[in-house]
Amino acid sequence: MNKFDEILSTIKQLPKVFETEEIALEDAYNRVLREDVRADMNMPPFHKSAMDGYACHIDDIANELEVLEVIQAGMMPTQQVGRNQCSKIMTGAAVPDGCDCVFKVEDSEAINEKTVRCINPRTARNICYIGENYRQGDILIKEGTMVSVPQMAVLAGAGYAKVKVSVRPKITVIATGSELVKPEEKPQPGQIRNSNSSQVITQLRKMNLEVVQNLQLKDDYELLTQTFNEALGNSDIVIFTGGASVGDFDFIPEILKEQGFKIFWDRTGFKPGNPMTFSQKGNKFVIGLSGNPVSSLVQFELLAKPAIYQLMGANYAPTRILAKLNFDFQRKKADRLAIVPVFFNEEGLIEEIPFHGSAHINALISATALMEIPLGTNTINKGETVYVRPL
Ligand code: AMP
Ligand code: MG
Repeated sequence: MNKFDEILSTIKQLPKVFETEEIALEDAYNRVLREDVRADMNMPPFHKSAMDGYACHIDDIANELEVLEVIQAGMMPTQQVGRNQCSKIMTGAAVPDGCDCVFKVEDSEAINEKTVRCINPRTARNICYIGENYRQGDILIKEGTMVSVPQMAVLAGAGYAKVKVSVRPKITVIATGSELVKPEEKPQPGQIRNSNSSQVITQLRKMNLEVVQNLQLKDDYELLTQTFNEALGNSDIVIFTGGASVGDFDFIPEILKEQGFKIFWDRTGFKPGNPMTFSQKGNKFVIGLSGNPVSSLVQFELLAKPAIYQLMGANYAPTRILAKLNFDFQRKKADRLAIVPVFFNEEGLIEEIPFHGSAHINALISATALMEIPLGTNTINKGETVYVRPL
């Protein structure tokens, strides 16, 4: 198995460490469900009219029909519909017992005030039968699902005014690098602005996760160790950027070892972004991302996100689309899975973006997807397909 797939299976084994809490339905968007959602009744709960029209017996469809009453949505029928009779009915209203057809208002012709007939002999029945969508007791949404727009509707429909979801982890983000200054500062010679913190915090926000502390530190072993220990006191997850590699001032792997953390992986097996650590001590987790902006973005997307979701008990799988290339792709070395920024053109084909590697964050400004070039693949020709992940 290649390194990346190995890590993905390691992630699948991580425990669901975060507790559950009950919250109001209106706050459930983008949260991880921690209970199966079941139907407490049939849907629809009664034979329901799908149209505004006339409920009758299909055998009478060619006949003139006496109109007995008007059935509004929310009311139950009061009249038994017999032979050559019908009741006017609104969409969403209960169809009278025994009726097996609702012909549309548009397919009707009034004979007089009390009599109509159907002018479309091939009318559809236009009835949604009881339990047609789901039956009482059915599982509608599985535990581990992220609540998005359709889930909100289904939860409401099933009477879940309160939902059980994962508690959101407390996260500290620490950008490391003696060269870093804040976005509002003007870098002096040898310095650059910290762009990773904004990026990582926004990735977390997209997951509906909040950062309790956002820190920027120099590459100073003592300072890093002390701040790290403080951060562990008030966070479940600490995310470092920078210092994860093998340079003289890359202290993160060393600090983790010294603090007794178990390191699950320190290489990702993909490019850009090979050096990355993921480690655990008790219920605390540390994610060490690269300092290079594209690397840290890709590492977050491909590994940090699924790992955090796993810890939260989510059944997360990234969306991957098989799409056609509109250019010839070539690379010299194929020793790793490569992640390359691309965009979709109007025909839905993948277009190339000039990309110079791990530091070239600007390349991602026009990117709408990340293309996966498998390990061992040097060439992909125009017209061939690859997996891409929408950004
Ligand atoms: P490192 O992973 O610490 O070796 O950093 C790799 C590269 O990323 C270096 O060129 C750093 O200057 C740069 N870098 C590190 N941290 C950041 C950051 N927070 N924002 C932007 N660039 C960074
Ligand atoms: Mg550094």
